[in-house]
This record gives sequence, structure tokens and C-alpha cells, in this order.
Amino acid sequence: MAFYDGLQKYGCTVKTNARLRSAFGDTFTVQTAVFPSNFTAAAQAAKACKGAVYLGGITNTLVLEDIPLAVCMGGMKGIIDGERDIYVMGGESLSAACGWAKMRALSGMEQLCGIPGTAGGAAAGNSGCFGREMSDLIVYADVAIGGRVERVYAKDISFSYRHSSLKGLILGVMLRLTPSSGEKIEEDMRVWRALRASTQPGRPSLGCTFKKCGEVSSAYYIEKSGFKGMTEGGAQVSEKHAGFIVNTGTATARDYYNLAEKVRAGTVSPHPLEYEINILGTRT
Ligand SMILES: Cc1cc2nc3c(=O)[nH]c(=O)nc-3n(C[C@H](O)[C@H](O)[C@H](O)COP(=O)(O)OP(=O)(O)OC[C@H]3O[C@@H](n4cnc5c(N)ncnc54)[C@H](O)[C@@H]3O)c2cc1C
Repeated sequence: MAFYDGLQKYGCTVKTNARLRSAFGDTFTVQTAVFPSNFTAAAQAAKACKGAVYLGGITNTLVLEDIPLAVCMGGMKGIIDGERDIYVMGGESLSAACGWAKMRALSGMEQLCGIPGTAGGAAAGNSGCFGREMSDLIVYADVAIGGRVERVYAKDISFSYRHSSLKGLILGVMLRLTPSSGEKIEEDMRVWRALRASTQPGRPSLGCTFKKCGEVSSAYYIEKSGFKGMTEGGAQVSEKHAGFIVNTGTATARDYYNLAEKVRAGTVSPHPLEYEINILGTRT
């Protein structure tokens, strides 16, 4: 019996040679992919799958080669109401959580409403936009680590720009929100969404490739260095926003990486560009 067969009784689906697709549109194989459907299943998966890669919506991860073992959280959905908090399962989409908060007339997530991916991925990378970050909202995170489930409170998590110190598989996060008016929240979300649509490319991407350079968007330096519109295979530095590398139709993850490396090496900026995306696999 394979080690993961026992996981199925907890509510995991296990697939071999699963083909997965990132938000950039490239595909890759996971030799053993474990998909938990609930909290207990995810905790058991984390315990059994030592050395596994954790995947959420794959909206911020570039996968350069096939992965032997992954726990894929996209099916572990659910939101539980508190008084003025919501508990969001690690695999729930952040957009769904924003929609839920709006429905409950709870304010705090408006700026985050267009960020794709899962709540777990957003907590792991302290995702944010328009001055609001996950760290502003997280009360605690439940994580599966070292065979146990631990509740880690915000005071024990160190957050910085697109980084959190959370380790292990994030099973769920408690978010603290503020009672407000549903109409006001809806209107604010409409404004932030429109701003996002007017500045970001419509083509498949992984969001911003590089972190901000000090207080300035890396896109400013990338554009100034002449990379806007540059292509490598099917990958292109977006004509609309030089911070994004987009798929013009047939790009591979390797096209993305090769282009990103050229941009990284050639951009003149006060500090070297640092990747915001997560990169899995051999880079050379
Ligand atoms: C069009 C577009 C716009 C975007 N705009 C923004 C933006 O405005 N702001 C922003 O911050 N980001 C943005 N992003 C990037 C991305 O959407 C976010 O970082 C998102 O929160 C990543 O979530 P995910 O589930 O897709 O993570 P994944 O890409 O699947 O994973 C990201 C990292 O988190 C880890 N991880 C994922 N789930 C878990 C878990 N449950 N437990 C432990 N670790 C986990 C992975 O191992 C990986 O290291 C954008 C991306 C796109 C494509």
C-alpha cells in the first residue's frame, strides 16, 4: 500500500502524474498530487507528505520542472462566520472571502478583492494591494507542521513586504474585520477593481515578477531600462505594466524565467531586483 492510500479515508484525493496549470498558463506534472478536501484531511496530508511542495492557486509560483510530491490546497474551501471575524480555509479563494465579507457588511478586505489565489497562499506571502496587506487582518493562522496542528497568533508571526514567517501548511486563517455598510463596501470594491483593471494587463501572468525597489515599483526601473515589450519565446514584459511578464499564447515557464533573468540582470535600479514570485525547480 502506498503511503498516501490511507489519506483517502480522511478526504484526500490522490492523483498520480497530475497535470497542473499556473495562472501564467504553463503546465507541469506532479508525480503524486494530494488534494485535501477538509481541515483534517489537509492536516493528515501535511503529516504524511514529508518534503511535499504546497500549492494554492498557483498564481504566484513559477514551476520550472516536474514536482515529485505536492499538497494542492485548491479544493479545501470554506468560510466560517464569527461575530466580526471570518475564518477562511487555506484553499478558499481570497476573492470568495472578500465577497463573503461584503455580504456580511464587514469592512477591511476591499483593496484585496481582485487578488487571485487562495487565502493560504495570500497569508504565506503576506499578499496585499493599495495599502492593505493580509498582515493587517490576520488574528491567527492554523498551520500543520511537524505532524501537529498549531495555532499561531499574529504577535508571533513576523510579516514584511510580501513575506510572512509562517512555516508549514496553512490550514486556515482568522481575519479581523470591521462592521460597516454593505453598499459602501461594494462601492469601494468596485473602485479598487476598476483601478486594477486599468493598470494591470489582461493576459495570463503571475502578478508582479519583482518586489518593489524601496518605495518605488520595480516596473518603473524596468521600463526606464528599456525592457517594456521585450519577448522571449511566448513570454513578454507587458506593454501595459512593465512589472508583469505575460503569456502571449504559447509561453513556457522556461520562457518566463529566461526573460525575467534578462530583466533582472539588465535593469538599472538603486538595489538589485528581487523576485516576488516563488520559483520551484532548477534554475539553470
Ligand atoms: C493577475 C494577477 C494579479 C495579482 N495581483 C497581486 C496583488 O495585487 N498583490 C499581491 O500580493 N499579489 C498579487 N498577485 C500574486 C498572487 O495572486 C498572490 O500572491 C496570491 O496571494 C498567491 O496565492 P496562491 O494561492 O495562488 O499561491 P501559490 O502561487 O499557489 O503559492 C505561493 C506561495 O505560497 C505557498 N503556499 C500556497 N498555499 C499555501 C498553504 N496553504 N500553506 C503554506 N504555503 C502555501 C506556496 O508554497 C508558494 O511558496 C497577482 C497575481 C496575478 C496572476
